[in-house]
Amino acid sequence: MIFFPIGFSNFSSSPLVLHSEPLFAEKGVRLYIKRDDLLCPQEPSGNKWRKLAYNLFEMNAQKKKRVLTFGGAYSNHLAAVAAAGKQYDFETIGVVRGETTDASNATLLTAEHNGMQLHFVDRQQYSKKYHANFLDSLRDQYGDFYLLPEGGTNRFAMKGASEIVAETRRQLGYAPDFFCLPAGTGGTAAGMIGALEKGQKVVAISVLKGDFMWSEIERLLCEFRPGASYAGQYVVQNNYHFGGYAKWTLPLIHFIEEMRDLHGLPLDPVYTGKSFYAVWDLARKDFFPRGSTVVALHTGGLQGLAGFRERFHLL
Ligand SMILES: *Cc1c(COP(=O)(O)O)cnc(C)c1O
Repeated sequence: MIFFPIGFSNFSSSPLVLHSEPLFAEKGVRLYIKRDDLLCPQEPSGNKWRKLAYNLFEMNAQKKKRVLTFGGAYSNHLAAVAAAGKQYDFETIGVVRGETTDASNATLLTAEHNGMQLHFVDRQQYSKKYHANFLDSLRDQYGDFYLLPEGGTNRFAMKGASEIVAETRRQLGYAPDFFCLPAGTGGTAAGMIGALEKGQKVVAISVLKGDFMWSEIERLLCEFRPGASYAGQYVVQNNYHFGGYAKWTLPLIHFIEEMRDLHGLPLDPVYTGKSFYAVWDLARKDFFPRGSTVVALHTGGLQGLAGFRERFHLL
């Protein structure tokens, strides 16, 4: 593989757009939307591209020519890795949690079309995916590979995500008070927290049910910025999961439709629908002090909409 870094040095920044709406005017809050969904004209885009780019440099440095990674049947990460493999001409293997019967959904069909080899495993096997025996058996079958963890989160991914902070500051001319974004593995949030200036805060909206996200981000930060302290510079919102990962309710769907119809803003029900819902709700509840500047990060993930429409005939 020759990874020619179209990214980064001659990467265009994603647009930063001022969002005007009476709610925010009334609350004295300036809201900007950072459109990482528009970072690249095609997949891989969004936070998945931010997380992949330095991994591709690293893979190149290690002289590996195939990536193996993990995900569920509707994974934005698998979609992004497959698209990157096609674009930069390296082999991709996706270990998918589930049965081959899931293989007909839009995400996996597109991944296969982009040349990804799919390897299906049941839930039990999937839960042991990082065990040495399993990885060895995959190496026997596919040859040596660059291993990317589920969701693509590692220190190279955090480095890529961290660049959002400085990029936004350049665009705005000053450092915004808050960055709000959805958290799945927490890798994007941890990367951004590791780049904050004093006084800035990240609000990570967990799209999973449970209260483990804060410690998960803490753990990732220790890996990314050993010894540094970001105490008080991030909060996790655990009340906007809408039932759990990839679960949804009608109020969430209505919010997504309203954003699309009133503002032309496309959101998905797994990540950005939930995080934007949270930003609106937090503004209503006076979470953001008057006079503050809030940047809501649109992390992308719109490829998942096709699968959602297939399954539920909504949106
Ligand atoms: C994967 C994904 C996330 C979660 O990112 P993490 O770094 O795993 O927290 C958020 N938004 C979108 C659109 C995603 O695809």
